[in-house]
Amino acid sequence: IEAVQDAVQRPGRTVEWPQHGNRPAYISEIYGQNVFDLKSLQQTLPKPVYARFIQQIKGRMSIDRPTADAVAHAAKVWAMDRGATHFTHWFQPQTGTTAEKHDSFLTLKTVISNGIEETSAIDAFSGSQLLQSEPDASSFPNGGMRTTFEARGYTIWDTTSPMFLRKGPHSTSILYIPSVFISYNGEALDEKTILLRSAEVLSTAAVKLLNVLGDKETKRVYATLGTEQEFFLIDRALYNLRPDLKITGRTLVGTVPPKHQQLEDHYFGQIPSRVLATIAEAELELYKLGVPVKTRHNEVAPNQFEIAPIFEEASVAVDHNLVLMETLHQVAHRHKLKVLFHEKPFKGVNGSGKHCNWSLSTDQGDNLLDPTIKPETNYRFLLFLVATLDAVHKHGGLLRASIASASNEHRLGANEAPPGIVSAFLGEHLTEVLDSIVDKRDVRNFSQPHLQTVKVGGTVLDLKVSTLPTIARDLTDRNRTSPFAFTGNKFEFRAVGSKQSPSFPTVLLNASVAASITAITEELVKQKGSKPEPSIDDILIVVRKFITSSKSIRFEGNNYSEEWVVEAEKRGLPNIKQCPVAFRQLLAAEHSNLLTKLGIMTTEEIHSRFHILMEKYAKDLVIEGNTLKNMIMQGVLPAAFAFKKELTDLVVSQKNLGLEISTLPEMKTLKTITTLTTTLQTAAEKLASIIDRVNALEGSEEQGELAGAELTVALEEVRHASDALELYVSDKQWPYPKYTELLF
Ligand code: ADP
Ligand code: MG
Repeated sequence: IEAVQDAVQRPGRTVEWPQHGNRPAYISEIYGQNVFDLKSLQQTLPKPVYARFIQQIKGRMSIDRPTADAVAHAAKVWAMDRGATHFTHWFQPQTGTTAEKHDSFLTLKTVISNGIEETSAIDAFSGSQLLQSEPDASSFPNGGMRTTFEARGYTIWDTTSPMFLRKGPHSTSILYIPSVFISYNGEALDEKTILLRSAEVLSTAAVKLLNVLGDKETKRVYATLGTEQEFFLIDRALYNLRPDLKITGRTLVGTVPPKHQQLEDHYFGQIPSRVLATIAEAELELYKLGVPVKTRHNEVAPNQFEIAPIFEEASVAVDHNLVLMETLHQVAHRHKLKVLFHEKPFKGVNGSGKHCNWSLSTDQGDNLLDPTIKPETNYRFLLFLVATLDAVHKHGGLLRASIASASNEHRLGANEAPPGIVSAFLGEHLTEVLDSIVDKRDVRNFSQPHLQTVKVGGTVLDLKVSTLPTIARDLTDRNRTSPFAFTGNKFEFRAVGSKQSPSFPTVLLNASVAASITAITEELVKQKGSKPEPSIDDILIVVRKFITSSKSIRFEGNNYSEEWVVEAEKRGLPNIKQCPVAFRQLLAAEHSNLLTKLGIMTTEEIHSRFHILMEKYAKDLVIEGNTLKNMIMQGVLPAAFAFKKELTDLVVSQKNLGLEISTLPEMKTLKTITTLTTTLQTAAEKLASIIDRVNALEGSEEQGELAGAELTVALEEVRHASDALELYVSDKQWPYPKYTELLF
């Protein structure tokens, strides 16, 4: 009760928006303030040194020592002028979060003058410190790739992502150096190395196809990524009273209140003021960090929100998504709120996802998946579109693996997020375009009388209210049930979990699409024969072939429906419901060969990742099991017993008065409580014994297997029993804040 009152009475916190002269600063004036970008570098380095640096990073060469020293010195001066005392390599081990180890700029220098040793303190930062660091790597997940005696790991500056400053203790700051994390033998131990590898492979493949099409200008193609981040915000005091939320990120017991999201009054509603203050403060920090946050709004569930940035090159977008999550986490603390990134913190209430909007851009700024007004004659678009479809068709299993986790499993297929079947949605118009190509006929006319095409990629919708401006309508409608939907000029990978790094899904998507682009290029080269460029007919023959071969992956209907499950099975599409099955896709020859052939992952790296995923999955479930067991044994059952004693006392006292007790309402509740308590106790004991069996197993694979098959079920059974009891035990005795308190 105190916590609830605390939550209600908490004073708001506001942070001053920066001034520019005597007016509030524009976002554009704040943007990137804390980023040491190429422009800042150019301003501080001597011209030839800067030129050499650019030449070396563009050419993917290693950076020579004098250049590195100069860049390090410039970065140090820039950072120290802004209060930096420390620097850190910032990297992404396979834990879903980031890691850092701070080093101060302090160096001791000893000089001997007149035979006397004099030690003085200086601030130094060398090129080698910038380029490389050696964290004690043995305690990061490595999936058995290294034994402890060769536990060396290196973090190496990723020159494609700029350094930035974040708040340190006092009013100091820390210089962050985005880095990759590799083993002594050069194996990837992180999320980023493989992302950078996949980006290069994708670029090479796409540039080759463009070349065949006669484009000699484009030298580089990159994946663009825009991550829509969903999350919940709840009060910290209440959060602290829920061991399940604290330890596992989700509620393991609790029933939905009478009013939750049925009314859909939260979606796009007014953002509560404490939440708005939190998001606004986070945004201010993110602007300074050059994270282009753009949109904020309420989501479907109570206390659920979303922030989306403007898309960027994928590797930078991944860094920025992680910075966004960390910043939100820290700022929420300052507002006495707790941000929940778990995919399913509350049962019976919508979960959270991270929609990954993905497309391909050339260095000329062209979006290769932009259909433009007439997609049917935009051959470049058609080729890249069918390449993406072909990739999803051949490697849907891989994409499914990339989003599998114990937490996302609660959301996938839970009638709010796409099921375990990976399919692609194109929308009516593009479906018609592809159908017409296959049928060798004209495209059905899409312009209706009240619609006229003006906007590239869309049409104008007349609202029939003359005071409203006409609005642009996307070429595609939406299908919120599709795991992989074309939305205007990009694909939206909607099944990605809110908690996970967007890196691995992007890697596997990049890899699969790169392979399909190459397959298409080869076909096209064959088709064109000795002609300098393929003819329209050549292109259409290839496009037609790939439309047909990938047709089974396309689905326009309701992905949540039972019919789709049946239909997908007929089409031979895998329906992967459980994590261990999903993880095993990584090892399937057709998928692992793709990654090894492209040089994105070695066989060892694939196996290592498989083991890390399995181990994490088993551990997550065991932790949930233990947490739930403790909550039941130490909280729920004692509460039920206490309530039962109260009821028993009531009954006994009435019996002593000589009243007939068999018809007492107390008696009825007492009986119900007794039955429900017995069921709960039995379920909790069963849960405990399964946990013991999982723990007794040796390998992570066996553990994951058993946990997936039995622990998940036992967790549900205990929850079911506890939730039934929650409805009968008196409110004042219930040991944990309920959904009503947490969500409203
Ligand atoms: P919606 O999903 O509601 O259509 P938007 O069009 O605003 O919303 O896009 C959502 C996300 O998709 C944003 O983060 C946006 O930057 C991103 N996005 C838009 N275009 C692209 C693109 N070409 N490549 C990658 N992401 C994109
Ligand atoms: Mg969207």
